[in-house]
Amino acid sequence: MKVIVAESAGFCFGVRRAVERAEGAAAEASTAVCLGPLIHNPQEVERLQELGLRPVEEAEVAAGETVVTRSHGTPADQLARLEARGPVVDTTCPFVKVCQQRAEKMASEGYAVIVVGDPGHPEAESIASFARRGRSAPEDAVRVVTDAEQLELGGKKAAVVAQTTAREENLARVVAACLPRFAEVRAFNTICDATARRQREARELARGADLVIVVGGRRSANTRRLVDICAEVRQTRWIEGAEELSPGWIEGCERVAVTAGASTPDRVLSAVVRRLEVLGGNVQDGE
Ligand code: SF4
Repeated sequence: MKVIVAESAGFCFGVRRAVERAEGAAAEASTAVCLGPLIHNPQEVERLQELGLRPVEEAEVAAGETVVTRSHGTPADQLARLEARGPVVDTTCPFVKVCQQRAEKMASEGYAVIVVGDPGHPEAESIASFARRGRSAPEDAVRVVTDAEQLELGGKKAAVVAQTTAREENLARVVAACLPRFAEVRAFNTICDATARRQREARELARGADLVIVVGGRRSANTRRLVDICAEVRQTRWIEGAEELSPGWIEGCERVAVTAGASTPDRVLSAVVRRLEVLGGNVQDGE
Protein backbone atom coordinates (compact mmCIF):
# COMPACT_ATOMS: atom_id res chain seq x y z
CA MET A 1 0.00 0.00 0.00
CA LYS A 2 1.43 3.34 -1.05
CA VAL A 3 0.92 6.30 1.26
CA ILE A 4 1.12 9.69 -0.42
CA VAL A 5 1.44 12.70 1.89
CA ALA A 6 0.42 16.09 0.49
CA GLU A 7 3.33 18.52 0.27
CA SER A 8 1.08 21.33 1.50
CA ALA A 9 -0.21 19.42 4.56
CA GLY A 10 0.16 21.00 7.97
CA PHE A 11 0.90 24.43 9.47
CA CYS A 12 0.60 27.35 7.07
CA PHE A 13 2.59 30.57 7.38
CA GLY A 14 -0.12 32.37 9.39
CA VAL A 15 -0.62 29.61 11.92
CA ARG A 16 3.11 29.08 12.41
CA ARG A 17 3.54 32.83 12.94
CA ALA A 18 0.65 32.92 15.45
CA VAL A 19 2.03 29.99 17.43
CA GLU A 20 5.52 31.54 17.53
CA ARG A 21 4.09 34.86 18.70
CA ALA A 22 2.02 33.15 21.35
CA GLU A 23 5.05 31.22 22.58
CA GLY A 24 6.97 34.51 22.73
CA ALA A 25 4.19 36.14 24.76
CA ALA A 26 4.13 33.19 27.17
CA ALA A 27 7.88 33.48 27.66
CA GLU A 28 7.93 37.26 28.10
CA ALA A 29 4.81 38.10 30.08
CA SER A 30 4.31 36.79 33.58
CA THR A 31 0.61 36.38 32.84
CA ALA A 32 -0.61 35.91 29.30
CA VAL A 33 -3.91 34.46 28.13
CA CYS A 34 -5.41 33.57 24.75
CA LEU A 35 -8.69 35.06 23.63
CA GLY A 36 -10.41 31.77 22.89
CA PRO A 37 -8.47 28.99 21.19
CA LEU A 38 -5.49 30.46 19.29
CA ILE A 39 -6.01 28.07 16.39
CA HIS A 40 -8.56 25.35 15.67
CA ASN A 41 -6.49 22.43 16.82
CA PRO A 42 -7.11 20.88 20.25
CA GLN A 43 -3.67 19.26 20.62
CA GLU A 44 -1.89 22.56 19.94
CA VAL A 45 -4.22 24.53 22.21
CA GLU A 46 -3.45 22.01 24.95
CA ARG A 47 0.30 22.37 24.38
CA LEU A 48 0.04 26.18 24.59
CA GLN A 49 -1.99 25.82 27.76
CA GLU A 50 0.89 23.85 29.25
CA LEU A 51 3.10 26.87 28.49
CA GLY A 52 0.68 28.97 30.56
CA LEU A 53 -1.56 30.33 27.79
CA ARG A 54 -5.06 29.60 28.99
CA PRO A 55 -7.92 30.24 26.49
CA VAL A 56 -10.35 32.75 28.09
CA GLU A 57 -13.38 34.83 27.14
CA GLU A 58 -13.06 38.61 27.07
CA ALA A 59 -14.90 39.02 30.38
CA GLU A 60 -12.37 36.76 32.09
CA VAL A 61 -9.31 38.85 31.18
CA ALA A 62 -7.82 40.19 34.41
CA ALA A 63 -6.13 43.61 34.74
CA GLY A 64 -2.51 43.55 33.61
CA GLU A 65 -2.79 40.31 31.67
CA THR A 66 -1.34 40.20 28.16
CA VAL A 67 -3.98 39.03 25.71
CA VAL A 68 -2.97 36.98 22.68
CA THR A 69 -5.64 37.15 19.97
CA ARG A 70 -6.53 34.47 17.43
CA SER A 71 -4.81 33.91 14.10
CA HIS A 72 -8.12 33.99 12.25
CA GLY A 73 -9.15 37.42 13.44
CA THR A 74 -10.90 39.24 16.28
CA PRO A 75 -14.02 41.42 15.92
CA ALA A 76 -13.06 45.10 15.43
CA ASP A 77 -14.92 46.37 18.51
CA GLN A 78 -13.53 43.64 20.74
CA LEU A 79 -9.97 44.28 19.59
CA ALA A 80 -10.38 48.01 20.29
CA ARG A 81 -11.72 47.31 23.81
CA LEU A 82 -8.84 44.96 24.60
CA GLU A 83 -6.22 47.37 23.26
CA ALA A 84 -7.68 50.16 25.39
CA ARG A 85 -7.41 47.94 28.41
CA GLY A 86 -3.86 46.53 28.27
CA PRO A 87 -1.16 44.79 26.25
CA VAL A 88 -2.38 42.80 23.23
CA VAL A 89 -0.36 40.47 21.01
CA ASP A 90 -2.48 40.44 17.88
CA THR A 91 -1.65 37.28 15.93
CA THR A 92 -4.22 37.89 13.19
CA CYS A 93 -2.73 36.45 9.99
CA PRO A 94 -1.63 39.25 7.63
CA PHE A 95 -3.82 37.74 4.89
CA VAL A 96 -6.88 37.95 7.13
CA LYS A 97 -5.92 41.53 8.00
CA VAL A 98 -5.80 42.46 4.31
CA CYS A 99 -9.32 41.11 3.92
CA GLN A 100 -10.56 42.99 7.01
CA GLN A 101 -9.03 46.23 5.73
CA ARG A 102 -10.46 45.72 2.25
CA ALA A 103 -13.94 45.10 3.69
CA GLU A 104 -13.71 48.21 5.89
CA LYS A 105 -12.51 50.41 3.03
CA MET A 106 -15.19 49.26 0.58
CA ALA A 107 -17.87 49.72 3.23
CA SER A 108 -16.58 53.24 3.92
CA GLU A 109 -17.02 53.97 0.21
CA GLY A 110 -20.67 52.95 0.38
CA TYR A 111 -20.47 49.42 -1.02
CA ALA A 112 -22.60 46.65 0.36
CA VAL A 113 -20.06 44.12 1.60
CA ILE A 114 -20.61 40.43 0.99
CA VAL A 115 -18.27 38.05 2.74
CA VAL A 116 -18.19 34.58 1.21
CA GLY A 117 -17.56 32.22 4.10
CA ASP A 118 -19.18 30.43 7.00
CA PRO A 119 -21.76 32.50 8.91
CA GLY A 120 -20.79 32.30 12.58
CA HIS A 121 -17.15 31.45 11.89
CA PRO A 122 -14.85 33.81 13.84
CA GLU A 123 -12.86 34.82 10.76
CA ALA A 124 -15.90 35.57 8.59
CA GLU A 125 -17.57 37.44 11.45
CA SER A 126 -14.40 39.44 12.16
CA ILE A 127 -14.22 40.50 8.49
CA ALA A 128 -17.89 41.49 8.64
CA SER A 129 -17.26 43.46 11.84
CA PHE A 130 -14.60 45.55 10.09
CA ALA A 131 -17.02 46.20 7.22
CA ARG A 132 -19.65 47.35 9.73
CA ARG A 133 -17.09 49.65 11.34
CA GLY A 134 -16.41 51.17 7.92
CA ARG A 135 -20.02 51.93 7.10
CA SER A 136 -21.21 55.40 7.85
CA ALA A 137 -24.73 54.59 6.56
CA PRO A 138 -27.07 52.02 8.19
CA GLU A 139 -25.29 48.76 8.91
CA ASP A 140 -27.67 46.37 7.18
CA ALA A 141 -25.61 46.04 4.00
CA VAL A 142 -23.03 43.59 5.32
CA ARG A 143 -23.64 39.87 4.89
CA VAL A 144 -21.77 36.60 5.35
CA VAL A 145 -22.98 33.98 2.86
CA THR A 146 -21.72 30.51 2.10
CA ASP A 147 -23.10 30.35 -1.42
CA ALA A 148 -25.08 32.25 -4.03
CA GLU A 149 -28.57 31.11 -2.96
CA GLN A 150 -28.17 32.90 0.39
CA LEU A 151 -27.70 36.25 -1.28
CA GLU A 152 -30.69 38.47 -0.52
CA LEU A 153 -29.21 41.89 -1.09
CA GLY A 154 -29.49 44.09 -4.14
CA GLY A 155 -28.68 47.72 -4.81
CA LYS A 156 -26.23 50.10 -6.43
CA LYS A 157 -22.85 48.67 -5.60
CA ALA A 158 -21.43 45.63 -3.91
CA ALA A 159 -17.98 44.45 -2.92
CA VAL A 160 -17.40 40.74 -2.53
CA VAL A 161 -14.56 39.42 -0.39
CA ALA A 162 -13.92 35.90 0.85
CA GLN A 163 -12.99 34.24 4.10
CA THR A 164 -9.40 33.19 3.42
CA THR A 165 -10.39 29.51 3.54
CA ALA A 166 -13.47 29.77 1.27
CA ARG A 167 -13.82 27.61 -1.81
CA GLU A 168 -12.99 29.34 -5.09
CA GLU A 169 -16.16 27.91 -6.71
CA ASN A 170 -18.36 29.48 -4.02
CA LEU A 171 -16.70 32.87 -4.43
CA ALA A 172 -17.19 32.70 -8.21
CA ARG A 173 -20.88 31.73 -7.82
CA VAL A 174 -21.57 34.57 -5.39
CA VAL A 175 -19.89 37.09 -7.68
CA ALA A 176 -21.96 35.80 -10.62
CA ALA A 177 -25.15 36.06 -8.55
CA CYS A 178 -24.31 39.67 -7.64
CA LEU A 179 -24.02 40.80 -11.26
CA PRO A 180 -27.76 41.00 -12.03
CA ARG A 181 -28.54 42.40 -8.57
CA PHE A 182 -26.12 45.33 -8.41
CA ALA A 183 -25.21 48.02 -10.92
CA GLU A 184 -21.58 47.80 -9.87
CA VAL A 185 -19.80 44.79 -8.47
CA ARG A 186 -16.21 44.69 -7.21
CA ALA A 187 -14.79 41.29 -6.41
CA PHE A 188 -11.65 40.57 -4.40
CA ASN A 189 -10.19 37.13 -4.32
CA THR A 190 -8.99 37.15 -0.72
CA ILE A 191 -8.73 33.38 -0.54
CA CYS A 192 -5.31 32.62 0.84
CA ASP A 193 -2.95 31.15 -1.71
CA ALA A 194 -1.82 28.52 0.80
CA THR A 195 -5.46 27.45 1.12
CA ALA A 196 -6.09 27.38 -2.62
CA ARG A 197 -2.91 25.34 -3.18
CA ARG A 198 -3.79 22.92 -0.42
CA GLN A 199 -7.30 22.43 -1.85
CA ARG A 200 -6.02 21.86 -5.40
CA GLU A 201 -3.43 19.37 -4.22
CA ALA A 202 -5.98 17.52 -2.08
CA ARG A 203 -8.35 17.19 -5.04
CA GLU A 204 -5.61 15.84 -7.27
CA LEU A 205 -4.32 13.39 -4.68
CA ALA A 206 -7.86 12.18 -3.98
CA ARG A 207 -8.41 11.39 -7.66
CA GLY A 208 -5.43 9.01 -7.67
CA ALA A 209 -6.11 7.32 -4.33
CA ASP A 210 -8.47 4.66 -2.96
CA LEU A 211 -8.87 6.48 0.34
CA VAL A 212 -8.05 9.95 1.66
CA ILE A 213 -7.25 10.63 5.28
CA VAL A 214 -7.61 14.26 6.32
CA VAL A 215 -5.99 15.18 9.64
CA GLY A 216 -7.21 18.22 11.52
CA GLY A 217 -9.33 19.69 14.30
CA ARG A 218 -13.09 19.15 14.09
CA ARG A 219 -13.66 22.90 14.47
CA SER A 220 -11.21 23.82 11.73
CA ALA A 221 -13.03 25.33 8.75
CA ASN A 222 -10.16 24.76 6.34
CA THR A 223 -9.92 21.11 7.38
CA ARG A 224 -13.67 20.67 6.83
CA ARG A 225 -13.26 22.18 3.37
CA LEU A 226 -10.51 19.66 2.54
CA VAL A 227 -12.78 16.85 3.69
CA ASP A 228 -15.63 18.14 1.48
CA ILE A 229 -13.36 18.49 -1.55
CA CYS A 230 -11.85 15.02 -1.18
CA ALA A 231 -15.21 13.38 -0.40
CA GLU A 232 -16.56 14.67 -3.72
CA VAL A 233 -14.17 12.35 -5.56
CA ARG A 234 -13.10 9.63 -3.13
CA GLN A 235 -13.89 7.91 0.13
CA THR A 236 -12.55 10.24 2.83
CA ARG A 237 -11.98 9.93 6.58
CA TRP A 238 -11.49 12.89 8.91
CA ILE A 239 -9.38 12.29 12.02
CA GLU A 240 -7.92 14.55 14.69
CA GLY A 241 -5.08 12.18 15.51
CA ALA A 242 -3.47 8.79 14.83
CA GLU A 243 -5.45 7.04 17.55
CA GLU A 244 -8.66 7.49 15.52
CA LEU A 245 -7.28 5.68 12.48
CA SER A 246 -9.02 2.32 12.10
CA PRO A 247 -7.03 -0.48 10.37
CA GLY A 248 -10.24 -1.65 8.68
CA TRP A 249 -10.38 1.53 6.56
CA ILE A 250 -7.25 0.68 4.59
CA GLU A 251 -8.02 -2.98 3.88
CA GLY A 252 -7.76 -3.55 0.13
CA CYS A 253 -6.38 -0.04 -0.52
CA GLU A 254 -3.42 0.29 -2.89
CA ARG A 255 -2.99 4.04 -2.49
CA VAL A 256 -3.87 6.11 0.54
CA ALA A 257 -3.53 9.89 0.37
CA VAL A 258 -2.95 11.94 3.52
CA THR A 259 -3.45 15.65 3.89
CA ALA A 260 -3.92 17.97 6.85
CA GLY A 261 -5.48 21.31 7.69
CA ALA A 262 -3.48 24.49 8.16
CA SER A 263 -3.67 24.26 11.95
CA THR A 264 -2.50 20.65 12.23
CA PRO A 265 0.91 20.44 13.95
CA ASP A 266 3.63 18.44 12.17
CA ARG A 267 3.91 16.03 15.08
CA VAL A 268 0.21 15.07 14.77
CA LEU A 269 0.54 14.52 11.01
CA SER A 270 3.77 12.53 11.48
CA ALA A 271 2.09 10.28 14.04
CA VAL A 272 -0.66 9.47 11.50
CA VAL A 273 1.93 8.67 8.83
CA ARG A 274 3.88 6.49 11.27
CA ARG A 275 0.72 4.58 12.13
CA LEU A 276 0.03 3.96 8.45
CA GLU A 277 3.60 2.63 8.11
CA VAL A 278 3.05 0.29 11.04
CA LEU A 279 -0.09 -0.93 9.26
CA GLY A 280 1.94 -1.80 6.14
CA GLY A 281 2.12 1.56 4.34
CA ASN A 282 5.04 2.58 2.19
CA VAL A 283 5.39 6.37 2.23
CA GLN A 284 6.02 8.06 -1.15
CA ASP A 285 6.68 11.72 -1.87
CA GLY A 286 3.63 13.81 -2.89
CA GLU A 287 3.11 13.46 -6.68
S1 SF4 B 1 -4.58 29.64 5.80
FE1 SF4 B 1 -3.69 31.49 4.89
S2 SF4 B 1 -4.94 33.13 5.75
FE2 SF4 B 1 -5.30 31.37 7.04
S3 SF4 B 1 -3.80 31.59 8.68
FE3 SF4 B 1 -2.87 30.32 7.07
S4 SF4 B 1 -1.68 31.74 5.80
FE4 SF4 B 1 -3.14 32.94 7.01
